[in-house]
Amino acid sequence: MANRNSETESKQRAVLVEWLNSILPNLSLPIKASDEELRANLVDGTVLCKILNRVRPGSVNEEGYPKNSSVLRSENVKRFLTAVDELGIPRFEVSDLEKGSMKAVVDCLLGLKAQFVPSGCNLSTTSIITKPGNIHGDASSHGPLTPLSREKRLKASSESKLQQALHTPLMSEPSAAVLHHVGHKFHEVFQLKQGRYADLPATKISEMMKSNSLDNAPTQSLLSVVNGILDESVERKNGEIPHRVACLLRKVVQEIERRISTQAEHLRTQNNLFKAREEKYQSRIRVLEALASGAGEETKHVTNQLQQIKVRRKQNISCCSTVLNCLCSILSQTENSKVQEKRKVEEQEIKQLMKENDKHNLEISALKQELEIAKKMHEQHCFEVEAGVTGAKAGLQIRIKELECLLADSNNKVKELEVISESKCQRWNVKENIYQSFMDFQFGAMKELRVTSHSIKQEILKTQKSYSEEFNYLEVKLKALADAAANYHAVLAENRKLFNELQDLKGNIRVYCRIRPFLPGQTGKQTIIENIGENGQLVIANPSKPGKDGQRSFKFNKVFGPAATQGEVFQDIQPFVQSVVDGYNVCIFAYGQTGSGKTYTMTGPNGATEEEWGVNYRALNSLFKISQNRRSTILYEVGVQMVEIYNEQVRDLLSSGGSQKKLGITTISQPNGLAVPDATMLPVTSTSDVLDLMNIGLKNRAVSATALNERSSRSHSIVTIHVCGKDLKVGTTLYGNLHLVDLAGSERVDRSEVTGDRLKEAQHINKSLSSLGDVIFALAQKTPHVPYRNSKLTQVLQSSLGGQAKTLMFVQLNPDATSYSESMSTLKFAERVSGVELGAARSSKEGKDVRELMEQMASLKDTIAKKDEEIERLQLLKDLKGGYPSINGEQHGTSSLRN
Ligand code: ADP
Ligand code: MG
Repeated sequence: MANRNSETESKQRAVLVEWLNSILPNLSLPIKASDEELRANLVDGTVLCKILNRVRPGSVNEEGYPKNSSVLRSENVKRFLTAVDELGIPRFEVSDLEKGSMKAVVDCLLGLKAQFVPSGCNLSTTSIITKPGNIHGDASSHGPLTPLSREKRLKASSESKLQQALHTPLMSEPSAAVLHHVGHKFHEVFQLKQGRYADLPATKISEMMKSNSLDNAPTQSLLSVVNGILDESVERKNGEIPHRVACLLRKVVQEIERRISTQAEHLRTQNNLFKAREEKYQSRIRVLEALASGAGEETKHVTNQLQQIKVRRKQNISCCSTVLNCLCSILSQTENSKVQEKRKVEEQEIKQLMKENDKHNLEISALKQELEIAKKMHEQHCFEVEAGVTGAKAGLQIRIKELECLLADSNNKVKELEVISESKCQRWNVKENIYQSFMDFQFGAMKELRVTSHSIKQEILKTQKSYSEEFNYLEVKLKALADAAANYHAVLAENRKLFNELQDLKGNIRVYCRIRPFLPGQTGKQTIIENIGENGQLVIANPSKPGKDGQRSFKFNKVFGPAATQGEVFQDIQPFVQSVVDGYNVCIFAYGQTGSGKTYTMTGPNGATEEEWGVNYRALNSLFKISQNRRSTILYEVGVQMVEIYNEQVRDLLSSGGSQKKLGITTISQPNGLAVPDATMLPVTSTSDVLDLMNIGLKNRAVSATALNERSSRSHSIVTIHVCGKDLKVGTTLYGNLHLVDLAGSERVDRSEVTGDRLKEAQHINKSLSSLGDVIFALAQKTPHVPYRNSKLTQVLQSSLGGQAKTLMFVQLNPDATSYSESMSTLKFAERVSGVELGAARSSKEGKDVRELMEQMASLKDTIAKKDEEIERLQLLKDLKGGYPSINGEQHGTSSLRN
């Protein structure tokens, strides 16, 4: 029993395999395929779907995905199973495909076969056609299947034609397979090897007219029969066609007509099918459109194409009907010679229609593919969109959470702010109250202030009145002060006069003695200075006569010892400098033998520091200082000349061309007091100017000194400082000049020892020095004739010697014992000058002794002190008065100061 069962099973499986191989030739399954072989071919579901589509086109979507895509594989199987369920065929489980027996699968497929293939007949067109002719017929392979009757075959044939029409748009003509297997017979039947249709025997024609033969004849053959008959008719010219041929023609044309009508029917069916598909597609498109707008364009494209196809289908149908009509008309005019041409046209059209059909098939398959692609893209797009949506959703949820947090935070903050604002509000209210009370207080204060300001106004008016009275009183007082200030200048002038008188009393000719210290390297030398007493007393000791006998006492206005500094020396010259700015002429000499310190006293040592500056620098500096102090009342201008007198010739030491030019001396007193007007006069305003100027002078003297050996000691150097002061108040001008003379060495030259230039020099020096002594002596003696003209020196100095002029002579001494005799001679010269003057002073007072003179001096000093006090007071008043111009209205002139 089991044996029989398995036998039946294997038979059924063979039938199935054969069927499968026939509908899917690529499958090539062996007839006795094992479970595994079946599984290998069916497991991916694609073959199952293909089978289903073969028996029922468009049932399922065939997914041609890679085999490893298990998901899609199972999808295919599921689709197949769903379709099977719809058809009510016993199904199998997915697991049956994967393992175990394939019986359930085989049963299911057999059920499918049974539903779509009439029992005992293969659906395969080959089988359908081959069965009657039994061309490939192998009854054993078909087993229990019984051969079909003609009616059944026809029915099956028509059914198969319908099926073909459903899945192929080809014209309902015997398929290629039919032609291949059976066509040769019809060819034999319809092929006219030679001869004419008219000559065909009746048996042949009757055979041709058998419906079976006509049914199975290809349209081409039928058309060739029609053409052949028509050709013959044309050739025969008489147009007669034998009756039987005409019958055949009618039969053939009827067959063609039937085919065309079938074709039309097919086309209609197809059109309906397309419509249904179009609707399906449109619904799908709508779904797709709804799912993704992205696929919209493609769907439109598809719709357009479908529309086009629809239009073309309609056109085809109309063409077909036209052709049909044409054919009908052709039939009614069979004898018409034009039928042939029309036939040809029809054939062409039919061919064209067939081609178009092919084309449309292709288009439909392309559209299908496009739809597949669109679907895939859409799915992919959906997948992406979904992924995006999930991503966005997650992001949004995070954002929502954040926002919720923020909301909670801001709510908290709002609450806090509310609390704060409430407290602030309360504070503001408190503040408002405070401000209100403050404002009230301020208003009250304002009222008080108004009252107070009114009273203050009154007070101010009163004060103004009292101030104006006071101002009037002050004006009166100031007037008195202004008067007093006006007296200031008068007092100043008087002071100057008194100062001058005091100087006069001290003597207009003064003699100071300065003893040079021993130079470094002269230590241990014997000195001739015995004693330097106070009040200008000097005791000289004769080194060759020790003891009192050898001592000789001299008296001068002042004696400066070797330790006296330049500053100390200048202190005693200071009053003379003041006299110069007061408009007096002053002459300061340095007299003594060479090397006794004349140049040191007058100028200072070479490269002197400020401490070592001589009288020249200090006098000029003092002049600047005084002029600075007086600048508010008198404007001073200071100019300097520098000349030397050598061999009774005057030379300019400040000219840029050296001192070679001889200068003339004016005898008539110039208003500006210039004795040597041609000598260069350089203005000086500062100490640096003075230093520059002295350097020029010394350089010019040095240039000469190289030419004439040690000329500096054998010429007189005269620095003249001219001071011109303009009184800013009165407009008067005063002149004063200061001569600073560094005389030539006073040493006596033994006439028997020297000759030539040296002798001439010595003579000139002796002459000029003795002339100077004579002039001073004459002045002191107040003799009417003063011998100024005896030497150039006295001529140059004339304006500064005598009259109101003051003369100061430094007697320079070399303390060395070896210079004793020269020192003594110097001292005697000085004694003559000073002693005579003092004596003269005494003689001019006629009998009055010195004590009286001293008393007078003391009283004068008192007067000066009083005047100084008064000046100070006035100065104070002046400072107080400040900007009152009336006080500066000085009325008294100082012209009396002029020399
Ligand atoms: P003179 O001009 O009379 O020929 P100097 O002025 O050239 O003499 O002086 C001779 C030297 O003695 C110089 O080297 C000078 O510096 C020095 N000398 C003169 N007097 C003093 C003094 N009071 N203190 C220091 N050195 C002096
Ligand atoms: Mg000198």
